[in-house]
Amino acid sequence: MLSTALRPHRRCPRWAAPIDLVRWVGREDHAAQGGRKLMDAPNPAPPISVLMYHQVGRFAEPTQHRSSFCDVRRFRAQMGLLKTLGCRVISLREAQATLFEGQPLAGRSVVLSFDDGYENFAEHALPVMAEFGYPSVLFAVSGLLGQPARWLSSGGQDSPLMSAQQLRELRSAQVEIGSHTVSHPRLSQLGATEAMREIADSKAALEQSLGAAVDFFAYPYGDYNPAVRDAVAQAGYQAALTCSRGTANTAPNRYEIPRKAIAYGDDLFGFAWKLLVKNRRKDRYA
Ligand SMILES: [Zn+2]
Repeated sequence: MLSTALRPHRRCPRWAAPIDLVRWVGREDHAAQGGRKLMDAPNPAPPISVLMYHQVGRFAEPTQHRSSFCDVRRFRAQMGLLKTLGCRVISLREAQATLFEGQPLAGRSVVLSFDDGYENFAEHALPVMAEFGYPSVLFAVSGLLGQPARWLSSGGQDSPLMSAQQLRELRSAQVEIGSHTVSHPRLSQLGATEAMREIADSKAALEQSLGAAVDFFAYPYGDYNPAVRDAVAQAGYQAALTCSRGTANTAPNRYEIPRKAIAYGDDLFGFAWKLLVKNRRKDRYA
């Protein structure tokens, strides 16, 4: 039912649509209620920005994958700017309740998300966020805990990932742990069984390690297709984050929530520009 309800909007060419369909939400809920309506009202939620980070620390200027690195001095300035601008930094769970369950939320709000689960999260990003009292969500690769990030072209020896014990220690620090698959593959390139294994087994393994529910998912490389998205829903996740750009309230459903990638080259002006101006949805859909 979910698959049927979600399918029509995805490949619909813009030129064929009388309206911008990506602005419409709530279809899966209608389907769940037995409804046939494909369009609901635009999401009335305020424009929540889900920021996407990977590694935070001190790095030599990267020659590639610049959106995977953020200098900790810039990160601190960015967190300070959020405070100066009066942004509320909220948990992904709170954002989800506002976006899809109608919970009211006042003012401009931001969610801080971190992919892959690098050790430098605990060393550099977490102390800064703790200073400001900000919550965050971190997406871990269940089959590589405590190991190098092997999927990186470098082999990941200089990019160690946190262990299960390190993840457990984060739970008392306002850090929600989500899943980022078992081995960080491109999910759209896998068969259905293998994709479901990556999606569902990582949830089960992390829940076992953490002793807590793992309700959120992030697609590695932002790579997914309708079948992958539906598998994430079927595996029991409550929401999933993509690498499409835009504010979260432009999500067509709870399994395709856009984010804003903060890159190595973003100075404070660039950061503010992404935060305040780059709100329209721009799909990156592999
Ligand atoms: Zn990743």
